[in-house]
Amino acid sequence: MPTYDFIVIGSGIAGLSYTVKVAQHFEDRKIPVKIALITKTVAEETNTKYAQGGIAAVWDTDDSFEKHIEDTMVAGDFISDKEVVEMVVREAPERLRELIAYGTDFDRKSDGSFDLVKEGGHSDKRILHYKDSTGNEIERALLAKVKSFESVDFFTHYFAVDLITQHHLGEKVTKDTPGKQCYGVYVLNKKTKKVETFLGKTTLLATGGIGQVYQSTTNPTIATGDGIAMAYRAKGFVHGMEFIQFHPTALYNPGKKPSFLISEAVRGHGGILKNQDGTTFMEKYDARLSLAPRDIVARAIDSEMKIHGVDHVYLDTRHIPKEEILQHFPMIYAHCLKELGLDMSADMIPVVPAQHYLCGGIIVDHFGQTNIENLYAAGECSHTGLHGANRLASNSLLEAIVYAHNAFEKSVSQYGTQVLPAGIPDWDDSGTRNPEELVLVTEMTRELESIMSNYVGIVRTDRRLKRAYDRLELIYLEHEELYKQSRITVPLCELRNMINVAYLIIKHARAQRQNKGLHYNIDLR
Ligand code: FAD
Repeated sequence: MPTYDFIVIGSGIAGLSYTVKVAQHFEDRKIPVKIALITKTVAEETNTKYAQGGIAAVWDTDDSFEKHIEDTMVAGDFISDKEVVEMVVREAPERLRELIAYGTDFDRKSDGSFDLVKEGGHSDKRILHYKDSTGNEIERALLAKVKSFESVDFFTHYFAVDLITQHHLGEKVTKDTPGKQCYGVYVLNKKTKKVETFLGKTTLLATGGIGQVYQSTTNPTIATGDGIAMAYRAKGFVHGMEFIQFHPTALYNPGKKPSFLISEAVRGHGGILKNQDGTTFMEKYDARLSLAPRDIVARAIDSEMKIHGVDHVYLDTRHIPKEEILQHFPMIYAHCLKELGLDMSADMIPVVPAQHYLCGGIIVDHFGQTNIENLYAAGECSHTGLHGANRLASNSLLEAIVYAHNAFEKSVSQYGTQVLPAGIPDWDDSGTRNPEELVLVTEMTRELESIMSNYVGIVRTDRRLKRAYDRLELIYLEHEELYKQSRITVPLCELRNMINVAYLIIKHARAQRQNKGLHYNIDLR
């Protein structure tokens, strides 16, 4: 069994920036260290890669930490943890400087200063970006940096299945068991189809979001909530799962998954939402018009679509000079042209809301530490308290680097103190056989997506949530039976995780008796 000092699950901004920091720390001190970086497909395939708009930080002298803090609190409907918000906002410039030192490029103006832009919910220009593909640029720089360290063993096409805890030593572990510990992770090698045991003194979950639980999402196929489900099964604490952000403006292109995002920055540059007859409608919903926070815009679009019986609205960018569109949104322009033959400078863009971001997740403290010893979480899979009931645009990449840093500091300070127990067993799949009816997994996945989209979407009711709960239970029981009999595969495990995540979303949504931010239940009005 390979033993690592640090195991990092996920190669998005959270996992990569944590890995760089840990590897650099030990290299600087000439201390040998073993780090495993595990990712379930190719290195680049992450939510991070698709981030367009940018990353928020106070740079401009007109701007202030106080304004960024206030904007974050307002977007979060005042249930964000104020201490966390202050910490993240104040640390932002320093973490950004590090990203730049690692080789990330951000757009600059002719005088050399950053080309800061304003996005929905921000009171000032404070978004650093690289054209309209900021995440891809960050991912590129961090990957290049990670690959320069000899201490990092990079496992691509390795799927983390379950965290190893005292449970695997035959001890009974409940949510209230004190001193729960994580000893590493069981990982499915997708090539050999064998489950390998990775022992780890410290483990970081950086597994990203949950978008695939919904029919329509901007998240790539890796976003199946694996880390949250693994932590939950290991009796980790999870919070705030009812707060699902639907991006108001995904490109309307039926049948395409993931949905292509038309970044908030397009509205920041003057794009205007319009009905199919060309009239504006945001004035009915919010004084900030098309630049209101995402939950308000998504609900407004949902409402207009229901009033007019249509399946999309439009985003009008025809008044923005073509050179400006090409300069700021080359990727979006090219995508619309290629996929739908639309020229953003001459045609309106059909848009519809799609699942985009999860505000809840695994509860962590200021250092990314979960309630399980030696288990940390950072990025979209975690719940830090920053976003409250709704995330402010461009605060998620920021949260990921701040918490990757804090988790790095804490976990490195614990280095050398952890002892792995003897007798951790290998994965046991005796009595199982190769799954014969894969169609069952495909069908159950479709049913789950449909339940979540129809009953647990932008607008909820008590009855819809109950119906979702009852239907999901049937899928859960059917899947459990199949899982126990089968040698595991990635689709089988992903469905198991999505069922866990859907259960948590519905459970938290039913328990939430106040309409706050992203959670909107008609029965609570
Ligand atoms: P990810 O980047 O999603 O990485 C997750 C990693 O975990 C992947 O490597 C995946 O393979 C791995 N993984 C998952 N499960 C397993 C498993 N079982 N075994 C092994 N590996 C596993 N945020 C902003 O701040 N600004 C923006 O402009 C912005 N735009 C966005 C646009 C789009 C289209 C999308 C989808 C998101 C956007 N976001 C934006 C949100 C932001 O991109 C994400 O919240 C952030 O990138 C998440 O980073 P992460 O490191 O937590 O996870």
